[in-house]
Amino acid sequence: MKKRILLLAGGQSGEHEVSLLSARSVLGALPRDQFDVTPVVISKQGRWLPPTETVRALEQGAAPVGGDLVLHRAASAEGYDAVFPLLHGPMGEDGTVQGLLTLAGIPFVGSGVLGSAVSMDKVMTKQVLASAGIAQVAWRLAVRREWQQTPDAVRARAADLGYPLFVKPANLGSSVGISKVGTPAELDGALQLAFSLDRRVILEAMTAHKPREIEVGILGNDAPIASPVGELRFEAEFYDYETKYTEGRAAMHIPAPLPPEVAEQARQTALTAFRALDCAGLARVDFFYLEQTGELLLNEVNTMPGFTTTSMYPKLFEAAGLSYSELVTRLVQLALEER
Ligand code: ADP
Ligand code: MG
Ligand code: MG
Repeated sequence: MKKRILLLAGGQSGEHEVSLLSARSVLGALPRDQFDVTPVVISKQGRWLPPTETVRALEQGAAPVGGDLVLHRAASAEGYDAVFPLLHGPMGEDGTVQGLLTLAGIPFVGSGVLGSAVSMDKVMTKQVLASAGIAQVAWRLAVRREWQQTPDAVRARAADLGYPLFVKPANLGSSVGISKVGTPAELDGALQLAFSLDRRVILEAMTAHKPREIEVGILGNDAPIASPVGELRFEAEFYDYETKYTEGRAAMHIPAPLPPEVAEQARQTALTAFRALDCAGLARVDFFYLEQTGELLLNEVNTMPGFTTTSMYPKLFEAAGLSYSELVTRLVQLALEER
């Protein structure tokens, strides 16, 4: 019997468009002889669009501006064998949709509530990974109310870390709201921007040199496997939104040209992080590698990484011998597996 799959795409975050692109790829790749796939696009306003509007949104890469909040559509997901929540960022990758699906009793692709929520929040991730002994940059947390009431306390935390530093909303992706802050004079503007997007903001020491950016894909539930290591190269000062999504700005190198022991360390550390964060299904684990010192610092874990046919995560597993369509099929199998 064919499995009935509900594919969720779009969503309320700044990564709405990226998700639509990924979903179009997945929709084209799930083998039709095994799966009966129904896509549902969620508008930026949180409305779950009906079939005709969903198809139009996927074709056009944009959803109409949507009105009412129709969460009860999740309940109508009951006739499905599994859901593929191909959503990035808040209200999609952060445990919220995962909670809804858990309550509805429907298996779904990817991490559950715990793994999704902890991995989405850059501060929680760092705390958990530090306790697992994984090397990372120095960081500080600031919350919006503190920034409003005692800004000097937040400025002092930045001074502790030293400049240049990075200021980021704790719960976003695609580099949205991230600033590289070169001097104290630029700090307030960066904090203002980050706090306009999130209640929690992370301040991070910059790596001692411009890092090499390497990434590892993880696939599996409680017996996960690691992909070969990939590297991103680009000219920009850091991997910002424009560099990520403008064609031709960044180049992917798979496998990354690295000493074999560094590549192996990255793969083992990525597996340790996946387990420590209680991830499931898939994750892309991103590192900074400092050639000058040989340091490998874990930057972040993405529980629903970019998923077009040309995205890093599927390319990493393609290099391991798993085609895009075999990969999405495997992810659905993992969602249905007893854990
Ligand atoms: P996102 O979740 O939005 O991808 P990241 O934490 O990965 O956010 O940061 C985006 C990019 O900013 C990184 O890929 C890297 O280029 C740069 N960057 C972030 N933090 C640091 C840091 N502490 N030191 C050096 N570069 C950084
Ligand atoms: Mg991210
Ligand atoms: Mg990143």
